[in-house]
Amino acid sequence: MLTAVVAARGEPIRSLPFYPYPQAFLGEEDDLVALFREVGRRGAFILQEDGRRFEDNLARFLGARHALGVANATDGLLLALRAAGVRPGDEVIFSSHTMVATAAAIHFCGAVPVPVECGEDHLIDPDAAAAAITPRTTALLPTQLNGRTADMAELGRLADRHGLMIVEDAAQALGSRFRGQCAGTFGAAAAISFYPAKLLGCLGDGGAVITNDAGIAARVGEGRDHGRSATGEVVGWGLNSRLDNLQAAILDYRLQRYGAVVERRRTLARAYRATLSAVAEVLLPPGPAHDPDHFDVFQNYEIEAERRDDLREALRAQGIGTLLPWGGRAVHQWEALGLQRVLPVTEKLFARVLLLPMHPWLTTDDVEYVGQAIRNFYGGRR
Ligand SMILES: *Cc1c(COP(=O)(O)O)cnc(C)c1O
Repeated sequence: MLTAVVAARGEPIRSLPFYPYPQAFLGEEDDLVALFREVGRRGAFILQEDGRRFEDNLARFLGARHALGVANATDGLLLALRAAGVRPGDEVIFSSHTMVATAAAIHFCGAVPVPVECGEDHLIDPDAAAAAITPRTTALLPTQLNGRTADMAELGRLADRHGLMIVEDAAQALGSRFRGQCAGTFGAAAAISFYPAKLLGCLGDGGAVITNDAGIAARVGEGRDHGRSATGEVVGWGLNSRLDNLQAAILDYRLQRYGAVVERRRTLARAYRATLSAVAEVLLPPGPAHDPDHFDVFQNYEIEAERRDDLREALRAQGIGTLLPWGGRAVHQWEALGLQRVLPVTEKLFARVLLLPMHPWLTTDDVEYVGQAIRNFYGGRR
């Protein structure tokens, strides 16, 4: 018997990768292969029935009028901004604690990305957004980060007061709600991502644009398909940014089972709270029952931790994979992008922030193992 490698408690070391990518296939292998055969035998590859069915089901799930499959959420944000009427030279405000893709979409729209601070829940700080508004500002682009929806009542009032559009980066927030309303349905338009490790992932890249506006939906439909209208006429410049029909078939299959995924993630968040809430050195995200205004779906479990880098190393030694969000820097901190801001709150946060494992194949017992490792690191059997 080989039991040379043991954790601090004398328990065998577990292997808990941050995200177990093969599981995204192995867990449903037979059904996925059957789907592949079935779609392949029909030769239904681009803009076919499976895609339309998925778009209808997704729109119904969100309580939105229109959902349009696109190649990825980054393209989706670009198409949404353009279709909503953001023009070259406009300023668009976003939280610097987001993926670089949020800012890239603004940039490729010809507009100016204006990064601002995040608040205590790590989402855009409405006061910071208000302070960044200039006569050239035309839109707010809040990121619904880590599966949580921002206070859209406050952002909505701000947008109304200044005549701004809202376009949501809901890449991480499928099914997340604020006051009962789903992320992605608050503004002019929104984008959702189906990257494999996202809440609803496919086996490659994929995304969707969500909107209640028929004009925006039509323009995104053209923009993703070479500028062609439904009748095939070229009505403007467009991209090739369509969601593959095979991926759409996989996503539609998974959307039917999505409720269980959300429940699992919320259960794991509850388990993290139970095992870590007494540790003074870490700050946890709001719990699933923290505030009736928010229904969080926990795309990620993002904590703040004292001596973060040492903790990360100690967890690695116990077989636990963690991640620094966005490679360890907020968008404005990547010098190559030339955004040149000082955002002290965000910069301080990025020296403390850490993503713990959070995915549907994790068990509450695994969470207890992670919690024990963190408690041991800070030196107590609390
Ligand atoms: C993943 C992600 C994106 C980009 O999504 P893609 O589908 O990979 O283009 C944008 N914004 C946020 C917040 C994300 O997490």
